[in-house]
This record gives sequence, structure tokens and C-alpha cells, in this order.
Amino acid sequence: MLDAYIDSQPISYKMLANSVYKNRISHAYLIETNYNSSGFDFALSFAKFLLCPLNKSNNKNCVDCTQCHRIDNNCFSELKILKSDTLQIKKEQISDLQEEFNLKSIESNKKVYIIEEAEKLNESSSAALLKFLEEPEENIIAILITSNKNLLLSTILSRCQIISLKKNLSKSKTIADELSDILYVKETEKGNFIENESTISKIDSAIKFLKLIEEKGIDSLLYVNKDFNKNFVKKEDYIFAFSLFIIIYKRAIEMKLNMSNDDTDILQYLVNKNTVNLLCSKLDLVLDYKEKIKYNLNLNMLMDKFIVDMGELKC
Ligand SMILES: [Zn+2]
Repeated sequence: MLDAYIDSQPISYKMLANSVYKNRISHAYLIETNYNSSGFDFALSFAKFLLCPLNKSNNKNCVDCTQCHRIDNNCFSELKILKSDTLQIKKEQISDLQEEFNLKSIESNKKVYIIEEAEKLNESSSAALLKFLEEPEENIIAILITSNKNLLLSTILSRCQIISLKKNLSKSKTIADELSDILYVKETEKGNFIENESTISKIDSAIKFLKLIEEKGIDSLLYVNKDFNKNFVKKEDYIFAFSLFIIIYKRAIEMKLNMSNDDTDILQYLVNKNTVNLLCSKLDLVLDYKEKIKYNLNLNMLMDKFIVDMGELKC
């Protein structure tokens, strides 16, 4: 059901819901998934929303609707899903689809077809589809799905309303959650660890210090004793902090590569300030230093050296 996407895909949800409620349904939609793993489910939910005679976007509101039930059970004749198991979508597959759809609609006043992996359309199947899109029948709606719209012919793109989904968020796991994995916190103690005030405040101060290193570079040496060593004293503390730095830089790299999105301050800051290469070099350095903690007796000196090395990294 489309309502499941109100929070995770607010813009796409609104565009589609509006087009139905305001009766401005387009003849063709292209859902660009941006590698979001829910792409197909999103398209199917939209198809269901279109086909439901009551236009309900939530199953709960549509208990007695036969159409919705039949779509759920994959036995609704006015919804066709085309997926090619080979590397291409063949022209015949498109013409078969057209032929089937030319039969009069019995179960619904609309017919919807979904084409998965539309980037597999080759020249001749694109041409066949284009004809279909150019002479749309009143009640036939196409939903094309692709990971990246640039893989499709511009003539097809120009015929579709494009709905671009947000990428999967790697934020689904919180930082504390991920930290508990890296630190091998036992499954039974994870809840405790994550909600513990000392964990929260340590994460907070480690992030603040990381930001200080990023802002002040070598000058942040002046703050090691005052800020960092107040909260991080033992080896375990240092491992805690450096594990956190690893998570932060990894997330920043993912964000920089457009693989995720996150509005956390520190991540926004790192992404704006650093190049991908520089973020990668910093991650390398953090990984390296996390190893060194195990064999180092003088942690103060280790932190000083870390700051100097960070300051010397260049993109
Ligand atoms: Zn329904």
C-alpha cells in the first residue's frame, strides 16, 4: 500500500497521491528507483492505488474491495507485469502486452502495466512502446521502473512523468547500534548499551572532538587534554572513540557517493568539507590508528600523532 511510503518517500508519495486525487493521472510514469530496494513494491503499491475503485492508498481502508484482494493474490487481469529474464526486453513482449490490453476491460475501468527494468528495452521494443505511449488509450496507464533514468531513450523519458525515489537510507541503523556491533557488545546487552547515558554522552563528545580536529587541524592538539582526555582515558575508551570515527567516515563516504542520505550535523559537515579521496584517506588513517591502540602504552602521544597525521592528509 502506498501509504507505507509517506515518511520514507514523501515527495514521490505526494506527487502520485495528488495526481490521483486531483484527477490528473498521467498515461505513463517512470519510477526511477536509484537502486532503492523497495522500487518494485512502490510501483505495485501505486498500481493498486490506481486500480482500487475507491482509490484507497491503504489496505486498512479498503477491506471489502475485491480488486485490492485480487491484486494482492496476483490474479487481477487488468494489471500486467512485464519482466524480462534475459538481458533485453523484446519487441514481441511489448506487442503481446498491447494485444492483451486491446481486449475490453472487464474488471476495472483502468488497466495498468508495469515494466520492470525498463533499461532493458532495446531499440525496437522502445519503438513499439513509444507507439503505445504516443497513442494512449484513455484508461491505460504505464508504469516503467528503472534504476537510473539516464539508461532510457529520451523519447521515452519525455512521455513519462518521472518519479525519482530516494535511495535507501543507511541510517536505518543508528550510530549507537552500529557501534555496538563493532565493539562486539553481546546481543542481550545491546539494548542497555545503546540507551545507556554514558554511551550517549561518549558518542556525543567523541563526535564533538572529531569535528574539532576537522575544523582546527593541528591546532586541535591544544584541546586533547582539556576535551578528549576528560572522557577517554583507558584503551577501551580509545577503541570506542576510534570505532565511532570509522562509522562516521564510512557514512560520510557513502553520502558523498550518493549512496545514502543523512541529516546528522557531523556528516553534513564532513561531506561539504572533504573530497571522496580525502574521506577515504582519513578512514584509512583511523583504521590504522585503531590497530595501534592495542599495542600502544602512551595513549596521549598516540592521539597527538593522530591529529598531526590527520592534518597532513591532502586530497
Ligand atoms: Zn481497494
